[in-house]
Amino acid sequence: MKAHDGMYIDGAWRPAAGRDTIAVVNPADEQVIAEVPAGGAEDVDAAVRAARAALPAWAATAPAERAARIAALRDVLVARRDEIAETVTAELGAPLPFSQAVHAGVPILVAGSYAGLAASYAFEEKVGNSTVYAEPVGVVGAITPWNYPLHQIVAKVAPALAAGCTIVLKPAEDTPLTAQLFAEAVHEAGVPAGVFNLVTGLGPVAGQALAEHEGVDLVSFTGSTAVGRKIGATAGAAVKRVALELGGKSANVILPSADLAKAVGVGVANVMGNSGQTCSAWTRMLVHTSQYDEAVALAAEAAAKYGDRIGPLVNAKQHARVRGYIERGVAEGARLVAGGPEAPREQGYFVSPTVFADVTPEMTVAQEEIFGPVVSLIRYEDEDDALRIANGTVYGLAGAVWAGDEAEAVAFARRMDTGQVDINGGRFNPLAPFGGYKQSGVGRELGSHGLAEYLQTKSLQF
Ligand code: NAP
Ligand code: MG
Repeated sequence: MKAHDGMYIDGAWRPAAGRDTIAVVNPADEQVIAEVPAGGAEDVDAAVRAARAALPAWAATAPAERAARIAALRDVLVARRDEIAETVTAELGAPLPFSQAVHAGVPILVAGSYAGLAASYAFEEKVGNSTVYAEPVGVVGAITPWNYPLHQIVAKVAPALAAGCTIVLKPAEDTPLTAQLFAEAVHEAGVPAGVFNLVTGLGPVAGQALAEHEGVDLVSFTGSTAVGRKIGATAGAAVKRVALELGGKSANVILPSADLAKAVGVGVANVMGNSGQTCSAWTRMLVHTSQYDEAVALAAEAAAKYGDRIGPLVNAKQHARVRGYIERGVAEGARLVAGGPEAPREQGYFVSPTVFADVTPEMTVAQEEIFGPVVSLIRYEDEDDALRIANGTVYGLAGAVWAGDEAEAVAFARRMDTGQVDINGGRFNPLAPFGGYKQSGVGRELGSHGLAEYLQTKSLQF
């Protein structure tokens, strides 16, 4: 695979300060496919300086011109769609059709939405005798994970560009090639030098240097709750803005009036997509006791059908971690009805689509984020019981409710402590705010709410 041996700083690929590198591994066959530089504090400092120097001019650029650059960026992503999909498949392991449709498709939608919002957003508002200006927060330090490698970059960079901010990105060490491709796209789109900068490297080195840098005004992080907590503390101590998109343990609540087969089928597919490596995945399926056995049979069948179409997990560490969780589930008394901890292939970090029955709400597999293709079926007695279980984790990122009529599902969804709920299989909406209640995070991404995260207000009184 093609890789740059430098950092994209101030509009050009420049040599890294040190000589450390990161080997990029294809998780489907465990082969090294490329090497990229592992940056350190010096690289981060150079990138932040470039971003700071570019800020006044970019912040003063008319919103229509910022919108035009984002639209051009979207067009480059469209033109390079196949290359994006192939790159994500090579370094993340997602099956190519999923990479085409989701890993390349969703960022194109999101970039398009911000081209529109940059042009239409009210950056100036009259409030009584005041004019309120929405101004960029400044230099953004963006730290992203590997599970949706391009989406998570675009969900930060596109609104930051729309707001008039400049950016330094530290992508996940497992998926740096997608990030390099994105930097090429930004360049091709004619975004001025220094507005977007890329430093590849390790989290505790380059990531930490970025989060701690005095020249960064907002740290926007997506990843684990453990690292998010640390970044939040660092930002708090520096009185710096922070946005955190963290983990989830979402509930898929199937009410007795629902179309059970559809709800179970869509629910299993929701978890298996991207090999279960989705923070908003509905990993807990809540079924009324009267329908429980039927739901278990349907879920086992749906998982078995998935079989070979599932991709590997991202790396050896996640492979060991997920298989460890499955063993833990068995040890705590959950009943395996599909899949299991054994690796289904000799090569690659594969885990079989796994379904647990007889899961109780306090079991580890029902409380902790597994980040693998594992769904747990939990039984409830009545609606209040279902609500208690649904809300009974430290997380609150997403969820689903299924019922015979929408009003019944909506009434339940309004009582859930979570940031997004799909009603009877509702479609993804790139304009709807995405983000967590409770320990799933702070702040929102996507749409106008996502744009507002990159703005601060100034009021002038007359
Ligand atoms: P992670 O370690 O939190 O990684 C997210 C990003 O933060 C990566 O770019 C990472 O760099 C960086 N990072 C790590 N330590 C850092 C530090 N001390 N200071 C600043 N940045 C730091 O998550 P992960 O290792 O990718 O995955 C572990 C778990 O996180 C998963 O099992 C899952 O539960 C959760 N997760 C959640 C999401 C989500 O969307 N909510 C996404 C991915 C993972 P490196 O790549 O070098 O580690
Ligand atoms: Mg990590």
